[in-house]
Amino acid sequence: MYTQLSKSLTDQDVTLVAVSKTRPDEQVMALYDQGQRIFGENRVSELERKTEYFPADVEWHMIGHLQSKKVKIVLPIVSMIHSVDSVKLYDTIVKEAIKISKPVSILLQYKIGQEEAKYGLDKDALDTIINKHLSSPSPVQIKGLMGMASFVDDQDQVRSEFVELKSVFNYCKSTYFALDDQFVELSMGMSGDYKIAIEEGATMVRIGSLLF
Ligand SMILES: *Cc1c(COP(=O)(O)O)cnc(C)c1O
Repeated sequence: MYTQLSKSLTDQDVTLVAVSKTRPDEQVMALYDQGQRIFGENRVSELERKTEYFPADVEWHMIGHLQSKKVKIVLPIVSMIHSVDSVKLYDTIVKEAIKISKPVSILLQYKIGQEEAKYGLDKDALDTIINKHLSSPSPVQIKGLMGMASFVDDQDQVRSEFVELKSVFNYCKSTYFALDDQFVELSMGMSGDYKIAIEEGATMVRIGSLLF
């Protein structure tokens, strides 16, 4: 499964984040041995343990909700945080990144799929964060947006949510980042919906169950 998927994503210029949360170390290591280097986690304690256990060339991505008080622990060990879902979290990441002089890439998590979605920024919060970012440079680099579609069987709904996210991405790009060649990532799509996500413009997919 891994080899096939990884090749097909590479051919499409899409980055695979292998979501290793809750998976046994041997299974994660098996993917590492096949060449996978980017892994996604959503729990701080698990992330801490795994960064010590696995080789140092793994790039760890934090993909789940992150409490501000845990930023201090997470920042030194991750290369990207996908789930920046509040102004307060953004401020904390900036403060900490400056303190330890650590360049860190972040994605702003936009709330699509109204009903159950617990976390994510609305348009106002998105504007607030980007304006802060543009007015005071820091080691934090905003690379793009992340979003999760609703967990529903209705493929049309899922697709329309990805389309919405892509249009918010385009809005941010043209309004704020037209001259910034770093703002390029759109992290959307999981095991069940990654194909639709790619059709609608995903540049990164976060895949767990399909791989393990
Ligand atoms: C668990 C998780 C995934 C992976 O989900 P699968 O359905 O197992 O592919 C992707 N993104 C986030 C934020 C997750 O928490």
